[in-house]
Amino acid sequence: MSRASATVTFADGHQLFTLYNGTVDQLWTRLVDSLDVAWDELWGAYKGADFAATDAECTCGQDEPVTVSTDYGGGDSWMSWACRHCKAVTGRLVPDGYDDPY
Ligand SMILES: [Zn+2]
Repeated sequence: MSRASATVTFADGHQLFTLYNGTVDQLWTRLVDSLDVAWDELWGAYKGADFAATDAECTCGQDEPVTVSTDYGGGDSWMSWACRHCKAVTGRLVPDGYDDPY
């Protein structure tokens, strides 16, 4: 199993969720309201080869600093950026010390 849950926490405590894809070593950028939805929709889409469904972009420019935490590889967390309106991760997709592909 090379996928793990990931939680994105905004400065005011608001949380959104995605998955960490250990195969390509990065987060999926689409955020959803619960981990159940993440596993259902994101993992379901990935298994169905609907890769576009696991990605999202911020189009409003109101992304904010967030903390990403994942239980992948024994657990890791790092600072990134995300937009709660567009439900998209816009910043770092990998833990500190990993090469960011972006
Ligand atoms: Zn946005």
